[in-house]
Amino acid sequence: MTTKLIDGKAFAEKLRADIAQRVAKLKADNGVTPGLAVVLVGNNPASEVYVRNKAKQTKEVGMNSYEFTLPENTSEADLLAKVNELNNDKNVHGILVQLPLPKHINEESVINAISPAKDADGFHVINAGKLATGQDGLVPCTPLGCLMMLKDHFGDLSGKHAVIIGRSNIVGKPMAALLLKESCTVTIAHSKTVDLSAMVKTADIVVAAVGKPEMVKGSWIKSGAVVIDVGINRLPLEGGKSKLVGDVATSECIGIASAITPVPGGVGPMTIACLLENTYRACVAALK
Ligand code: NDP
Repeated sequence: MTTKLIDGKAFAEKLRADIAQRVAKLKADNGVTPGLAVVLVGNNPASEVYVRNKAKQTKEVGMNSYEFTLPENTSEADLLAKVNELNNDKNVHGILVQLPLPKHINEESVINAISPAKDADGFHVINAGKLATGQDGLVPCTPLGCLMMLKDHFGDLSGKHAVIIGRSNIVGKPMAALLLKESCTVTIAHSKTVDLSAMVKTADIVVAAVGKPEMVKGSWIKSGAVVIDVGINRLPLEGGKSKLVGDVATSECIGIASAITPVPGGVGPMTIACLLENTYRACVAALK
């Protein structure tokens, strides 16, 4: 079996080029430029890198990027006031509050204060409810990117058995809802699942979103299955260096899986591209 490495970087580049074309057309036809506001509280170095990348890619597709960095000791009330201001700003079509937030701020309250129509991350309870009930809404970026890659690989997903490992609100649950909408038969596994390896062995599609380095072994994978590795784990190496690995032992899956997303360069690059897609969709919906 030849195993295809799904190139998420190239896929994301193609998607961003397509978004750039749609943004240019929107400007020409409607005189509107989509705008994404990103709010960062505190100075978590990893979050700073994410926010910088998001802003750069937003501008590259021709959208407006508005970045707000608030001090670590910002109160929840002040953050909610900022969100409210952005909700009422007609130049802002997408709002993202970078997670994690400092401990003294309730993330759920902040997420649910964002207008559902501008919820670029798709985490608002209204958007989660719409996804769960099969209605159109804004969908979390990481599972949206995974779905795009799966549809590109398979075309029709109907009837496939998908095993999703992980039940978080940002990856596992929305991934399950998206695949159910595509008429997959969906199994969601988690830390209490009994005999996970046997369950994974029955899957045509495996989505690993666990946060445990290389936990999913090659011997768990059914011949010809497609493996989507969402995990991002930093493994320390000698000499103070580190390397990124996913939740799947990728090298063990070569020759068994028909396709697999590598880490890095698989799911990761699609996440920001899907954030831009959501901002574009939110802008178009606002025009209606
Ligand atoms: P969470 O920690 O929120 O969820 C992890 C899930 O894995 C939980 O449902 C947990 O089960 C389950 N789990 C933990 N241990 C086991 C086990 N031994 N067997 C089976 N299931 C287990 O993580 P996230 O969903 O936020 O993220 C998952 C991974 O994806 C992380 O590595 C994260 O960094 C990465 N990620 C990557 C993104 C990207 O852009 N590529 C974006 C978002 C996340 P239980 O519910 O029972 O505790």
